[in-house]
Amino acid sequence: MRYAEYLRKSRADDPSEPIEVTLARHREALRQCMAKHALVVAPEDVFEEVASGDSLYARPQMLKLLEAVEQGVYDGVLCMDIQRLGRGSMSDQGAILDAFKLSGTKIITPNKVYDLSDENDETYTEFETFLGRQEYKMIKRRLRRGIKATVESGGYIANAPYGYEKTRIGKTPSLKPNPEEAPFVRMIFDLYLSGMGCQRIADRINSLGAKPRRDVQFSRTTIRNILQNPVYTGHIVWDRKTHIRPSRQSGGKHITIYNPQESWTIVDGLHQGIVPQETFEQVQGIFAKRHRSPSFTGVIENPLAGLIVCGNCGHNMQRQADKRGGPMLLCQKRGCIVSSKLHLVEEALISRLREEMNELVQNAGSESPGEDNTAQTLKAIERQIATAKAQDSRLYDLVEQGVYDTDTFLQRHAALSQRIADLEKARTDIRPREQLNVPKMAERIQEVLDSYFDMDSQQRNELLKSVLEKVIYKKEPGAKPAEFHLTLFLLPIYL
Ligand SMILES: [Zn+2]
Repeated sequence: MRYAEYLRKSRADDPSEPIEVTLARHREALRQCMAKHALVVAPEDVFEEVASGDSLYARPQMLKLLEAVEQGVYDGVLCMDIQRLGRGSMSDQGAILDAFKLSGTKIITPNKVYDLSDENDETYTEFETFLGRQEYKMIKRRLRRGIKATVESGGYIANAPYGYEKTRIGKTPSLKPNPEEAPFVRMIFDLYLSGMGCQRIADRINSLGAKPRRDVQFSRTTIRNILQNPVYTGHIVWDRKTHIRPSRQSGGKHITIYNPQESWTIVDGLHQGIVPQETFEQVQGIFAKRHRSPSFTGVIENPLAGLIVCGNCGHNMQRQADKRGGPMLLCQKRGCIVSSKLHLVEEALISRLREEMNELVQNAGSESPGEDNTAQTLKAIERQIATAKAQDSRLYDLVEQGVYDTDTFLQRHAALSQRIADLEKARTDIRPREQLNVPKMAERIQEVLDSYFDMDSQQRNELLKSVLEKVIYKKEPGAKPAEFHLTLFLLPIYL
């Protein structure tokens, strides 16, 4: 992991302040930011403009930095704000955005981390406001053209999938097999052909020490996605997924839907395959036979999708269709918690929702005015957050002074980040109750209950997500089929 730092005095800064003073202040702010993200910038990776000028060519350090960014040298660049990178003429901005986007380099500011290679990042919306709508549209069109050209020439732009790492073939971004991961990919395909199911393959390669990029371990779903990804035969697929932007219906969550295979765009990639084409096709053949109903219908089949959280580990619970006696609801982590029949959980959830609504209405008027210790509790939590944050930013000083080595620093930092996250969660949990718009919430739940059973799975899912944030599922070993416990978190509506 290598990071750069970019410093420049801009029009946004106080013009009467000497440039050294301004930059010293920025340096301090970025130091805090590094501590927050647990990253370090080497002295040779600091780019500092000595004069303030707006055009890109008046910024020699920026040009040097951009060159390195284009070559994919850095994982991220720290700077005070995105405007500082972006000022200048429109073609300059386009060049800068291109460089960051195509190389997948993150922009890290004290307020926010921007990942331009992730099109779902709301970053885009922010760029929109920052560049102005027109300019943004033009740049976006340019980027699209650039991406399209790269893709058509067989290049690969997104993050490298498991088994591969990023490389460049000529000037085009592409992939090369990762020597440690590629053998596991081959093994996954071979095991599947030998008749093993996705879950058992996941267990096997987890036990062999394989580690996926984002999760702790491989799951049934990750294995299935690998087995169906033509990237492993040297192809590139587009339009595999459709992303639905967060909306009220989705409870502010992102929904990803897998598109049916026939609507994918598949082109020959420049990169080398890991698995022979015949092997891949055999695997697809077995998939088609094993899963009578195609898995990629593009429609949510689980009315509870994205709503039920495992009370043991906090992962989402998933529907598993191919079971006798109807679909089951189980934790992504195999063996983590006792599973239940999906329809039992769904029915229980609806009756709990009804109870929850009645309770809400009954308790609405009976709030005792004396119990206003929420303000006090809030203050206490705020204090703890402040302390933890102060401790966290001191860690950076300690590592710089040589008191801590990097490992200790990272460990302490991780622990503190977790504590801060927990405290922030606690803070949102104790919103005072009298702010809730109870009649409105009750009314909305009633609407959901009235129409629920007339709807299909996808509509049911949308209805539930319009009133529920999440539901925690608990079940003890040896419990009867319907003996599980659901804790509902209603989506609050405030006055
Ligand atoms: Zn679990």
